[in-house]
Amino acid sequence: MRPIDERAIRASFINASRKEVSSVSLPQGFTEIDFDRIDYLGWSDAKFPRRAYVVTEVDDTLVGVLLQRAEQRVLMRAQCSWCEDVTLRNDVQLYSARKAGAAGRKGDTIGTLVCAEFGCSHNVRRLPPLAYEGFDRETARELRILRLQENVAGFLRAVAG
Ligand SMILES: [Zn+2]
Repeated sequence: MRPIDERAIRASFINASRKEVSSVSLPQGFTEIDFDRIDYLGWSDAKFPRRAYVVTEVDDTLVGVLLQRAEQRVLMRAQCSWCEDVTLRNDVQLYSARKAGAAGRKGDTIGTLVCAEFGCSHNVRRLPPLAYEGFDRETARELRILRLQENVAGFLRAVAG
């Protein structure tokens, strides 16, 4: 994704109140993030343990969504619905997002299972195992990266309504 700054992040939220946006803490080590190597910026809020955020570009617009961790419990070995990693030991977390606009004010939410530490971008950049002789691992990796971008964008579009 293209590099973003704090102002762009705060302006991107589609399902958060002004008060919530003003209380968003930036991810730890924000200034050192290599945006070339991530498809979305996802992080938990150090001040609000059940709050997390996902920000990325959807159709050339930066979109941010506030997530609420549905349970304390981490689901072991379930599949992340964004990176769809099946080869790693993958701790995923159930998050819910209030829908944007009127639907959200009525209480509509959307749930999703995501890697507990938002490690999807890292997961999809690992070279996949050789599935068979002649298997093109580089292309497979490229496709996984694209698929992750599509999955995250699809989620953000669904929250936007
Ligand atoms: Zn993931």
